[in-house]
This record gives sequence, C-alpha cells and structure tokens, in this order.
Amino acid sequence: MILRLILGDQLNHRHSWYKEKDQNVLYFLAEMRQETDYVRHHIQKIVAFFLSMRNFAAWLCDQGHRVTYYSLDHKDNKQDLTLNLLQLIRDNKVTKFEYQLPDEYRLDNQIKEFCASLNIETKVYDTAHFLTTRTDLSTFFEGKKQYTMEYFYRYMRKRYNVLMSTPTDPEGGIWNFDKNNRKKWTGTPIIPLEKRFLKDVSDIVHLLEESGVNTIGTIVAEDFNWPTSREESLKVLTYFCEKLLVHFGDYQDAMHTKEKYLFHSRLSFALNSKLLHPLEVIKAVIVHWRGHQDEIHIAQVEGFVRQILGWREYMRGIYWMHMPGYGVKNYLNNQNPLPDFYWTAKTKMNCLHHAIKQSLDDAYAHHIQRLMVIGNYALLTQTAPDEVDQWYLGVYIDAIEWVEITNTRGMSQFADGGIVATKPYVSSGSYINKMSTYCKDCHYKVAKKIEEDACPFNALYWNFLDEKRAYFEHNQRMRMMMNLLDKMDKEKLQALKDRAITIIENPNDY
Ligand SMILES: Cc1cc2nc3c(=O)[nH]c(=O)nc-3n(C[C@H](O)[C@H](O)[C@H](O)COP(=O)(O)OP(=O)(O)OC[C@H]3O[C@@H](n4cnc5c(N)ncnc54)[C@H](O)[C@@H]3O)c2cc1C
Ligand code: SF4
Repeated sequence: MILRLILGDQLNHRHSWYKEKDQNVLYFLAEMRQETDYVRHHIQKIVAFFLSMRNFAAWLCDQGHRVTYYSLDHKDNKQDLTLNLLQLIRDNKVTKFEYQLPDEYRLDNQIKEFCASLNIETKVYDTAHFLTTRTDLSTFFEGKKQYTMEYFYRYMRKRYNVLMSTPTDPEGGIWNFDKNNRKKWTGTPIIPLEKRFLKDVSDIVHLLEESGVNTIGTIVAEDFNWPTSREESLKVLTYFCEKLLVHFGDYQDAMHTKEKYLFHSRLSFALNSKLLHPLEVIKAVIVHWRGHQDEIHIAQVEGFVRQILGWREYMRGIYWMHMPGYGVKNYLNNQNPLPDFYWTAKTKMNCLHHAIKQSLDDAYAHHIQRLMVIGNYALLTQTAPDEVDQWYLGVYIDAIEWVEITNTRGMSQFADGGIVATKPYVSSGSYINKMSTYCKDCHYKVAKKIEEDACPFNALYWNFLDEKRAYFEHNQRMRMMMNLLDKMDKEKLQALKDRAITIIENPNDY
C-alpha cells in the first residue's frame, strides 16, 4: 500500500496523482489541532480550509480513489501530523510514503524529519501549482545586489508568453501600467456585489467551538461566502472577468468606507489552497479581455497579471531564498507591542477602524488597506515584526506563511532591510486621504499636524523618519524625504516628535 499525504493547501484537482485510480494508493487528509493552533487563526480561515478539504476529499472519492479523512473530532485523529501518519502506516501495512512539496518551511521540515525516521521508501512530488521552482528566483538574481521585482516580472512575461506582442516586446508598448492604477473611488462606476454562495457552515463552526479551538474574528455561519470548491472558485474567476476586471487596475489602490472589495478579485484563497492554478487564472482573464478589448483597457489586465505572474511568484522565491532567517529579521530594531485595537477595531482613527473591522469581520482587506493603513501604522509606531506577523498570519483568509511573511515582514515592515522593498512603505495621512474616503468622517483632521485633533499619521511619519534616520541616510529613494526632514524647523520637528511619542505610548487612546 502507498500512502499519499494531501495538505490543506494542496487541493490541486489537476495534479498527476489523480489521473489514474489505484486501489493500492490511500490518500490522506486531516483536520488537526497542529494546524488550527500554530497561530490563532480567523474563524473564517479555518472554516474555509476545512470545508475545502472536505469537498476535495469528496471529489476524490467520487473519482474512485481511496481516501481516509480525519475530521477534527475523528476518533483516530491524534491531532499531530507525524503521529497520524505513523498510525496509518502501521495499520495499513504501508510500504511507501509519498507527499507533495509543502509551501511552508515549518511543514517542509516536519515532513523531511518524518521521512528520515521511516524505514520504508518515501517520495516527494512537486505540487504542480507554481510557475517557478523554489530556486528559480535565486538563480535569476544570482550575483545581483537588488532583487527588483519588475525585472523578474518581465522575465516571467517572456518565459510564459503572457501579454507579449513579439517574444521580446510587451503588448501595449510598455511593460507596466501602474501609473494608471491610482484612481480614488467616490461612488462611480457602480461596484457589483461580490459573488455570493450563501453556504451554511454551522456544523464546522460548532465543531470548532466544541473542540475549544481559539479563533479570532467573526463569522455568519449561515452565510459563508468564500469559494471552497473548484466549481465555486471557477465561478468567482468568471465573475471577476465579466464584472470586475473592467475597472480592476484603475481602482486597485482605492479605499472606501462603504466598499470592502471594490473591484478586487477575492481569488487569493482559491489560489493559495491550489483550487485554482495561477496560469489558468491569468489565461481566463486574458481570453476575456481579448473578446472585450473595446470595453476593457490593457491597463486593467496588465495590473492583474502583474500581481499573480509577478508578485506572487516573486514572494514565494524570496521566501525559499531566505528562510528560515527571514522569520526573525528585524532590521529596524522595532520593539513596541501591537496595540490592542488590532484585535477590536476600537480606535478613533477612521482608516484603521474600517480596515481592521473589515479584517475581523470578513478575514479580508485588500492590498492597500493591508499595506498603507494597517501596516503603515504598525511600522510608524515601530511595532515588533513578530507581533505584526502573528496578526497578519492569523487574520486573513489567504494567510499562508510563504506569502504572508514576505509581504508583512518584507514589503510592509521593511524588517528585511530592503530585500523586497527598496524603501519603506510609510506615509503621512495625506496618502490615505488621497486614496480613500476615510478622512472625511474621521475624528482627526488630516491637514493638521500637532494639534489634539491632528491626524496621528502626520506626527508619526516625521518621527519615524527622524528616529530611523541612520537606516535611510544613504537610501537614494528616501533622499527627498530626508532632505525635507533636515530642512524642517527644529521646534516644529520637536512638537511632532512629542505628539508621536505620546501616541506610541498610548495607542489605545487614539
Ligand atoms: C502586509 C501584507 C500582507 C499580505 N498577506 C498576504 C497573505 O497572507 N496571503 C496572500 O495571498 N496575499 C497577501 N498579501 C497580498 C495581497 O494583499 C492579497 O493577495 C490580496 O489582497 C488578496 O485579495 P484579492 O484576491 O482580492 O486580490 P487582487 O487584488 O484581486 O489580486 C489578485 C491576486 O494577485 C495576487 N497578489 C496580489 N498582490 C500580491 C502580493 N503582494 N503578493 C502575493 N500575491 C499577490 C493574489 O493571489 C491575489 O488573489 C499581503 C499584502 C500585504 C501588504
Ligand atoms: S485623518 Fe488620519 S487617522 Fe483619520 S482617517 Fe485620515 S489618515 Fe486616518
């Protein structure tokens, strides 16, 4: 008997494993406390994984494969991957153990050690999901000082012949339409309601409650809305192409008090659990665009393709290039605790209130909310990256370490010292005001700097630049801001710093 392990984020229906039915092969999937407890997760995230795994196991059975599935309360479930596997190997007279490359360093190590301890044959397969291997990115940037995503992205466009007019020339004449993607949304064009499924997941919610799994955030158990099967994932993809793509790029960075998803795809969970393949998503978007070129500008399409073909693969490459060291990086030596309001959304800062509340209610915030509101504040207040990471890894529906940590510790917190981002993503309130409607209804005034009702981001921004001066003095991309800082009146700077320090010391009063 061959035992094949399928991890919760390895739900790839198109993997070669499933092409042939063999009653001598036993597939194994398990809901385990090992996975629910390694960080405190959002309840919707656990439900989404469990439901997707159950659907996948049911699909395998329908296809005629042999499957053992342990629900969290299964009588034989030891709640630990190694113990479960050992038991199955013993009880089923297994002669060979096979698995797919895990995407997390933690699981990769655990399974490697497990295999080393076995006295039966083992074999590892690729997940057949990503467009690059674990080491392609390090090979691509070998000998380079900077790992500029844009160059990698162009290479990927050529390698996969995506949006190319010739083997070397990009379609539309330029590689990157990012400059077009900066519109603020103020009520039009109309945003279609997100694709809805109205699933009742009360049984899994009860199971989690009865088992005492400690979760964060909320869930409406009768109205669960994330895609958790291949069919649903494909429907979300089609919905994106038909309804949202037309404005995706334009409003990619926009934020609005009443709109959570704007024109974003909500595909990250389906992609990260491997229910969808990145190339199939890219191709579907391009095929749709080719049929609607009179309505949809290439800028919308290129903006989307860049996220998946570029950023997603790039982040994975960075992860495997730098783990395990990446997980402890704290270049700026930030040590402050994460404010309590990250767990409650109780703050008078309207941008943070909305972005955090949405994260707790829906396990979702889009990229700019994660980067320029929630992450920006954490960095400006010099919060310890470990605490920031734990929050991001727990709260989002799509948070798996390879893509969470590189975005959080790298892109957002600059804790890697510039591996991912060439300068820190920090801003005063003016950027948030430019891209959102948050400031309009805020307790604080975005134009004010040091008064009691001044936007906290303003003082925090200048204080951050001043306190971290030594780290950025020689950074060309920070030169303009550092020059402005140098020219600032000393008394004015001191007043800003005094206010910033009060905010940092009493975050929950703001
Ligand atoms: C601090 C921070 C933490 C993040 N943590 C995660 C995470 O844990 N998991 C995760 O999948 N994404 C993460 N991202 C990236 C991005 O915010 C999410 O992928 C996106 O918001 C998911 O929503 P969507 O599917 O509607 O995305 P869209 O805006 O519709 O984008 C389409 C797809 O592009 C991919 N993508 C976009 N940006 C990135 C990026 N920076 N890195 C990798 N892929 C990207 C995603 O697969 C996404 O589904 C993080 C970003 C930041 C700034
Ligand atoms: S004024 Fe400042 S705190 Fe308020 S919403 Fe705008 S940026 Fe956020």
